[in-house]
Amino acid sequence: MALRNIAIIAHVDHGKTTLVDELLKQSGAFRENQRVAERAMDSNELEQERGITILAKATSVEWKGTRINIVDTPGHADFGGEVERILSMVDGAVLLVDAAEGPMPQTKFVVGKALKVGLKPIVAINKIDRPDGRHDEVLDEIFDLFANLDANEEQLDFPVLYGSGRDGWMAAEPDGPKEDLSPLFDLVLKHVPEPTTEAGPFRMIGTILEANPFLGRIITGRIASGTLKPNQPVKVLHHDGKLLETGRISKILGFRGLERQPIDSAEAGDIVAIAGLSEGTVADTFCDPSVSEPLEAQPIDPPTVTMSF
Ligand code: GDP
Repeated sequence: MALRNIAIIAHVDHGKTTLVDELLKQSGAFRENQRVAERAMDSNELEQERGITILAKATSVEWKGTRINIVDTPGHADFGGEVERILSMVDGAVLLVDAAEGPMPQTKFVVGKALKVGLKPIVAINKIDRPDGRHDEVLDEIFDLFANLDANEEQLDFPVLYGSGRDGWMAAEPDGPKEDLSPLFDLVLKHVPEPTTEAGPFRMIGTILEANPFLGRIITGRIASGTLKPNQPVKVLHHDGKLLETGRISKILGFRGLERQPIDSAEAGDIVAIAGLSEGTVADTFCDPSVSEPLEAQPIDPPTVTMSF
């Protein structure tokens, strides 16, 4: 299936959660979830038994036969290194800005990081329904922000949508049509490139580390090359090339809708979470035993945040 990997970036309260909920509702993922609603109980029980109920750090929706992985990014400056690493997994970003508040400190922070890793954000001026909205001024402020952050010409030439995540619409013009979010989905498919992949055996940089009481260490990352199957032998290389460990993948979790589900295989370009290794961490290269060189990772600064469930 065709793929896109994006991040939705915003200042807190500018409407990220509400928009992602609406994207799920209006996309294939939601219809699929509805169909599996009857099975939800069983799968919950199964998940509890196996200890694989994990809140996703990413979501995926399907639109016109393309799966769009949407990665969450912390907006806070305390997570500087984390944000940069997460943004290096994706090929596009949707910047949400409140039509009344305009760009705020976290907008500046995340836009700075997105521009630095070379993304060309799509701008969505959100909450256009607010009576105190001032979208024209806000658009100027966003342009100035990009310019002050040394955006290049392509980045400054950002596409703009207006809308209301809460009311479930986005459009090329502030006055509508107030129909649905298809202009946003379509723009993501058109503006965001497919993930770049390389030839060769399985390689992936660890990007997010979690500790799970049942599965042990879980590492999320984007597969740079090759394919991955459960039980596959892998090794982990430190970024200086040192061999950290060899082992096997016990589980691959894919992002499907709001949940993570065990999957039977994953291809280059996809963002997945893997379990089964005990040493490998963020910025290390998880790879086929035949690989000798690590991939180049973003520097770790500040230290990794570990989430436990
Ligand atoms: P997040 O912090 O970016 O995830 O923001 P939320 O999605 O939690 O939204 C923050 C607040 O803004 C909530 O009270 C939402 O109901 C409200 N909100 C979200 N989208 C819209 C919108 O399109 N219009 C208006 N007026 N309010 C919205």
